Amino acid sequence: MVSRVIPVDPFDLVIFGGTGDLARRKILPGLFRRFCSGQMPGEATIVGAARSEMDDDSYRTFVREAIVEFGGGRHCEDGTLDEFLKHIGYVTIDARGTGGWDDLAGRMRDGIVRAFYFSVAPALFGDIAERLHNYGLATPESRIVVEKPFGKNLETARALNKTLAQHFDETQIYRIDHYLGKETVQNLMAVRFGNMLFEPLWNSQYVDHIQITVAETVGVGGRGGYYDTSGAMRDMVQNHLMQLLCLIAMEPPARFEPDAVRDEKLKVIRALEPVDYHHIVRGQYGATDTQPGYRDHVENPRSTTESFVALKCHISNWRWAGTPFYLRTGKRLKSRSSEIVVVFKDTPHSIFEEDAGRHRNVLAIQLQPNEGITLGVTIKEPGPGGMRLIDVPLDMTFADALGPEAEEVPDAYERLIMDVIRGNQTLFMRGDEVEAAWAWTDPIIEGWTRRGEVPKPYDSGSTGPDDALMLMHRDGRKWREIRS
Ligand code: NAD
Repeated sequence: MVSRVIPVDPFDLVIFGGTGDLARRKILPGLFRRFCSGQMPGEATIVGAARSEMDDDSYRTFVREAIVEFGGGRHCEDGTLDEFLKHIGYVTIDARGTGGWDDLAGRMRDGIVRAFYFSVAPALFGDIAERLHNYGLATPESRIVVEKPFGKNLETARALNKTLAQHFDETQIYRIDHYLGKETVQNLMAVRFGNMLFEPLWNSQYVDHIQITVAETVGVGGRGGYYDTSGAMRDMVQNHLMQLLCLIAMEPPARFEPDAVRDEKLKVIRALEPVDYHHIVRGQYGATDTQPGYRDHVENPRSTTESFVALKCHISNWRWAGTPFYLRTGKRLKSRSSEIVVVFKDTPHSIFEEDAGRHRNVLAIQLQPNEGITLGVTIKEPGPGGMRLIDVPLDMTFADALGPEAEEVPDAYERLIMDVIRGNQTLFMRGDEVEAAWAWTDPIIEGWTRRGEVPKPYDSGSTGPDDALMLMHRDGRKWREIRS
């Protein structure tokens, strides 16, 4: 059953970049869905703040259109959207200037939760933090939500942490990684730490290897300029895949509390061994007769930025010594699928004839498109024909398990915004975690630059370069098929 909805406390939420793509597609529709569910209280206000000249009414029209386009559903027609829009306001503001800040300060109410969502380019984070302080908007109870990318290497991430720390305490800073807001990601913790079944087997004695795949079908789209300075390693591995790796590999925290969980994640990152460059494959999607390739998309015919990465890494601790982790992510792949796969070892001895077949237990945690968990269990093939073994899935696809109520499960952004209002940092990255992740990532990227490495081309709609398949074949393993 879907859990009860508990309304959060009244709040003032300011969305810097309130006219941007992220606000339109995710933040505003997400807030509306929380309003529909009864979680957003009647006393809440949401203020869009951006450079565009608009008044409250024209912003409400903008918000209405965004919600209708991106998932308001049936509530758009029944008057709920009109009710929601009464909570919306707008301030024209310049993050680097003086205009709009007094107006914004005048709209804030005392004694209630105050949250500032930095949905703007990272170059503006410092300017906004400083002005929130100078204009008296930042109270000890205020929180700020910071979008990715959080720096582009260790040095810039450190500098950003330092800038934010001048005006906000770490307990006020919510570094968002929307992968952590996904239902299955949290379920991963429930499965691991809420059952007796898995945790005793969750180590290198029983787990052969773990795969994490985040495959996208889209190319770089309109983000070409940014993406070409970033690449898959910075854009996906350093944050999203790293967070998934932490949750799958961490020790049980003493409590499900922010710092207990984040301490354990940090230990995983710090225990990651440097990656041997033979164990990394970079790729870049090429053009076809009908489709432009990566270099066309980013309008850089000599780009050596990767749109695909596959790598093998090891965690040097007692639990995982000897169990490799294979990570892969890329754009323009055959289907959109994010999955964590735990492949258990063979049984120590088979009592069956060789031709009965031999199978391994596989636990697959699918994050998108259909959130759910499947456990492959070996059984006898039914019917006559002697003892033949087959795999059957114990399927916990949420949509099937929950029925129509699955639609009510909040998406990652809406859940995380409500966590900000509640003051729960468990699913947000701490500053030292982000820095540790960069400390592991930087030498990999620097190595590519030093060696002048060029990514391997791969076809759009494929599973990436052949070398990525070889990465596992060499170890006598294979990637699980990328499924939609
Ligand atoms: P965008 O370019 O669509 O929007 C930027 C917003 O910032 C606009 O509202 C604009 O008016 C405002 N802005 C720009 N300069 C300003 C200034 N000087 N003063 C005040 N406002 C100013 O960007 P976006 O795609 O919405 O992304 C916002 C942030 O979220 C970025 O950090 C991005 O990396 C991150 N992000 C976006 C997505 C996404 O899907 N769009 C996903 C993950 C992270």
